[in-house]
Amino acid sequence: MQALVVGAGIGGLAVAGALARDGWQVTVLEQAPGPRTAGYMIDFFGPGFVAAESLGAITHLQRRSELYERARYVDPTGRTRARFPMDSFLNAAHGKFFSILRPDIETGLREWVGNSATIVQGAKVVSVEPGRCPDAEDPGMPARALLADGRSFEADLLVGADGIHSAVRGFLPGTPASGVLRHLGLHVFGYVFYDPELAASLGRDVVLSDSLVRQATLYALSDGRVTFFGVVECSDPDPDGDAREDLIKQFRGLGAHVDRALARRPAEIFEDVVALAVVPAWSAGRCVLLGDAAFAVSLLAGQGASLAISGAKVLADALGSGGNDIPAALAGYEASWRPVVEQQQEAGRRNARFFVPSGRRALLLRRWSLHLMSLGPVNAVIARRVFGASVVGKGHPAP
Ligand SMILES: Cc1cc2nc3c(=O)[nH]c(=O)nc-3n(C[C@H](O)[C@H](O)[C@H](O)COP(=O)(O)OP(=O)(O)OC[C@H]3O[C@@H](n4cnc5c(N)ncnc54)[C@H](O)[C@@H]3O)c2cc1C
Repeated sequence: MQALVVGAGIGGLAVAGALARDGWQVTVLEQAPGPRTAGYMIDFFGPGFVAAESLGAITHLQRRSELYERARYVDPTGRTRARFPMDSFLNAAHGKFFSILRPDIETGLREWVGNSATIVQGAKVVSVEPGRCPDAEDPGMPARALLADGRSFEADLLVGADGIHSAVRGFLPGTPASGVLRHLGLHVFGYVFYDPELAASLGRDVVLSDSLVRQATLYALSDGRVTFFGVVECSDPDPDGDAREDLIKQFRGLGAHVDRALARRPAEIFEDVVALAVVPAWSAGRCVLLGDAAFAVSLLAGQGASLAISGAKVLADALGSGGNDIPAALAGYEASWRPVVEQQQEAGRRNARFFVPSGRRALLLRRWSLHLMSLGPVNAVIARRVFGASVVGKGHPAP
């Protein structure tokens, strides 16, 4: 059986490796000319960690990971206003937690996939025919993907893992052309830069700004690089170039570390809207959506990468080695996985104000919650409030 995967992001690579493991011949179509290097630090935990373990991919990720000792909220004068030990998360996630750069997850997954799947770079998909499975009256039709350069590919199965602004999604009958993304009123920026002096001063602390309507976070990497990750209030879901430049200027004045990080930003930075994808049906014919294309939970739920990998395993397990009834497998995947992602989307909505307080009261509440978090017995309660039940204790899904 042949599978086409659109997108060599985290979800696409994970499903490519999982299907290849089960005997599928997999071709991945990726629009970028080479591996993408953009992105910032992701805290990796939850069902994706468990899935990566069971797929045999975890060591490829773990060897690129970092661990931090504390998170500190620092005000513009440099004063630490709240702090908590990172082992709060490590304990809440039963030790299955690390921090890793988004591009390093892709590098680790590419290493894990190896030659088991063919990855075609520079392959931008512009049109999809979802195809049909055969039945008594219909011989069926393969799924097809047409590329911008005129090439076309067909297969028994097409997985749309092409991210939050998915092109594949638009070709699923029954999916509205607009209104699928729920903007959470925030915009995000991220980049990595080399600054050993700043890295040394940050040490093993994650340093977050204690600020209203915007938040900047800095992590130092062991090799002298530093990652900047900023979230800022923005009512426009699609700001133009100048507006984006203005948005990034809004992080100025949050303290000497942040100003230094802004001064060193590279030409190419990751930036996107913070949104949920609420898609009425994840599949049609031989075509199915995965990851942010189907169920973006937003960075505020802290689980986009984790759910993309675990969703990939759930999908591959439902399909088996290809002998399974494809429509039934796709329906089974959605029925089991939709409730899990809906719970995380709810956490994403709830967390918006925790991440970026818009008033002084919310800021004080966050300081107080973080203070509570530093007191051992309530760690799990706060962690559940922040990340949802699927990370902590009961309700942890086993993909
Ligand atoms: C460059 C980049 C940087 C990111 N940085 C962060 C980050 O730092 N922190 C964070 O929490 N999340 C980040 N994200 C989002 C995060 O990777 C996803 O939320 C999560 O990993 C789910 O992954 P996904 O595979 O569903 O989608 P994505 O990771 O978005 O991957 C989708 C892939 O599909 C490709 N693609 C899109 N359209 C087409 C097309 N028409 N034809 C062919 N290929 C196509 C894209 O180039 C991309 O490689 C980033 C995404 C990207 C693309």
